[in-house]
Amino acid sequence: MNAEAYRPFGDEECLDVFTHAAAMDYLKNQKPRVLYISYGETDEWAHGGRYKSYLDAAHQVDAWLAEIWNFVQSDPQYKGKTTILITTDHGRGDIKKEEWTSHYDKIADSYQIWFAAMGPGIEKKGEINQNMVLFQAQLAQTMARLMGKVFVSNHPVTAGIPYLLIRQNEIYTVKLVIPVLRHRNGANR
Ligand SMILES: [Zn+2]
Repeated sequence: MNAEAYRPFGDEECLDVFTHAAAMDYLKNQKPRVLYISYGETDEWAHGGRYKSYLDAAHQVDAWLAEIWNFVQSDPQYKGKTTILITTDHGRGDIKKEEWTSHYDKIADSYQIWFAAMGPGIEKKGEINQNMVLFQAQLAQTMARLMGKVFVSNHPVTAGIPYLLIRQNEIYTVKLVIPVLRHRNGANR
């Protein structure tokens, strides 16, 4: 079906419904320890200034996140030991409301992004804000620590978010969620 679908964002990007279907199929049948899903419609509709479509896409992704979470909680392999992290690749203009479709260093306040987390050890606090500066780059090591690994690379690696990680019997779990992150540099999309 994906091959037959129209592609409003160009040949290299499919509609999110196909991404989600493939992800759920892989999750249920391959049972990976780590699964990365990249939904793209909110990004594309926002860049295009299509606010209603942007909200519709966000609403749909919310429903899919619920589906993922409900599956995780129903599956013995994942239940009670799976963390879901959700974030965005960049922020959007907010100081000048007409710049909401864009980002980059010249777009005021677009360096700010958010993340959310669900899983064992995470307190249900809803949306919260803490007086500290975190960076998107810290998520890689945070995720590695949650998996009991240390992320190493041939480039400098930013430390994880210690405030989120409490060590219990050699296992790191997320302590709480801080949704405001700062984006170091603007990606194109
Ligand atoms: Zn974008």
